[in-house]
Amino acid sequence: MPLVTSTSTHPGIDSRDLDDRIYVGGHWEVGAGDLIESVNPATGQVFATLHGATPADVDTAVRAGLRAADDSGWAGALPHERAAVLHRIGDGIDAARERIARLQTLDTGKTLAETTALAASAANTFRYMAAAAETSDGALTTPRGPWLTMSTHRPMGVIGAITPWNSPIASDAQKLAPALAAGNAVVSKPPVWAPWVTLLLARICEEAGLPRGVLSVLPGPGRTVGEALVRHPDVAKVTFTGGTSTGRHLGRIAADKLMPITLELGGKSPTIVFADADLERAAQGVLYGIFSSTGQSCIAGSRVFVQRSVFEAFTSDLVRRADRLRMGPGTDPDTDVAPMISAAHRDSVADTVARAVADGAEVRCGGTIPVDGALANGWYYPPTVLTGVANTDRISQEEIFGPVAVIIPFDGEADVVAQANDTVYGLACGVWTEDYRRALRVGDAIDAGTVWVNTYKQFSISTPFTGLRDSGLGTEKGRAAIRQYSDQKSIYLDRSDEPIAWGRHP
Ligand code: NAD
Repeated sequence: MPLVTSTSTHPGIDSRDLDDRIYVGGHWEVGAGDLIESVNPATGQVFATLHGATPADVDTAVRAGLRAADDSGWAGALPHERAAVLHRIGDGIDAARERIARLQTLDTGKTLAETTALAASAANTFRYMAAAAETSDGALTTPRGPWLTMSTHRPMGVIGAITPWNSPIASDAQKLAPALAAGNAVVSKPPVWAPWVTLLLARICEEAGLPRGVLSVLPGPGRTVGEALVRHPDVAKVTFTGGTSTGRHLGRIAADKLMPITLELGGKSPTIVFADADLERAAQGVLYGIFSSTGQSCIAGSRVFVQRSVFEAFTSDLVRRADRLRMGPGTDPDTDVAPMISAAHRDSVADTVARAVADGAEVRCGGTIPVDGALANGWYYPPTVLTGVANTDRISQEEIFGPVAVIIPFDGEADVVAQANDTVYGLACGVWTEDYRRALRVGDAIDAGTVWVNTYKQFSISTPFTGLRDSGLGTEKGRAAIRQYSDQKSIYLDRSDEPIAWGRHP
């Protein structure tokens, strides 16, 4: 797909990618739902509007998905046949990488470096799941009687995929690629804050030969469109990424339907710096862990524990580095910290910090919304470091989803493990030490689905991702992801010469 800039007023954006139509059961239609106004977070200007979907569209899309998966042969296709389509989707994403990146930067404010990397990762996710589909074997199980016994898998039907705004193309790929690879139809509900890139992905899927109707993309409010999707009786499974309270609510609906649901939720992840760590390296990693993506990351390392003997030196160094980060629009290659998704979210972060300060926290850097120059029109919030707080304080316990780190001292391994685990969340954790035995011990003891040792916020599609406690339910990524979207069946083939010995034989 070539990059087309002709009729768009936004450099590098194809005007077709801001077309006011949603994708319902294989048809591009102007939605009858709420009007979504998309605003560029760097300028506060509306750049496009989109008529969203309605609950009636959910019903149309689910029925179309069921029909299309069967009629087109998608559900019954051999794995290598589906894999060929997934490979073409990966190639299509690669060919449109710059276009996707610019669109996502316009919509979410993120830096182009980040959105380009997210697009590349989405392409690779489709390729990885294609390979996984082709090589996922069923099993002959050990017989315990006169049978040939085997375990096989089949598609579940229609999968509902609900995603947040913070990394749209990567979240989409993480759900769509394994669900499609397993032979399902998918109804995707992207967030109202960032709907465009999922619609572009639908175009790429269509051009790659995904049968029409197998995928629908229905942007709209969670309370109406999202909830209709979860409640729909013909949706076989939902995969959700978003906030913990939304996830808990959807989990209850799923329980009523006895429907499996995967929940990837919030976090308040600890990063632990021991005195023996390479402190330069640790400071750089802690900085990246909390301030990249402007802190709008589920795995942001927002609770930083530093061993008391190096607490002041490390904090001063971190503050010096944070002060040097450049705030600016995502399109500027020199930008480190881009604007936040919305004015409301930026203001809620500012309120949270103000409340902590009123409770006694000390602001070591950041802490105020920029009011002059080019930054005044966008939704910027500076990298903020707070000290003088305890792990039990509200600022240390609540997910802020912004560029705010609390730095807390600790006295030894047992102390830091207890403090780090004193949270409702269990998503990720970072351990910085030169002692690998200690790293493994502490990593084991922390309740977190992902542990990084001497690094942070690194990802691979081949490595499973799980949230423990209030951070989630179930696992995404890895080869087994395809099985999360498959029903398992067992088959007994009788090989004995005798009928079943029961009752009275004639
Ligand atoms: P959110 O829960 O408000 O929304 C997420 C999605 O759910 C959106 O598409 C939204 O429209 C939809 N939704 C909202 N209410 C719904 C309802 N009642 N029924 C059905 N759908 C509904 O979250 P957000 O503000 O978009 O995203 C930020 C949150 O996502 C943070 O808590 C962050 O930690 C979390 N997150 C988690 C991961 C992870 O992998 N664990 C990754 C990214 C973001």
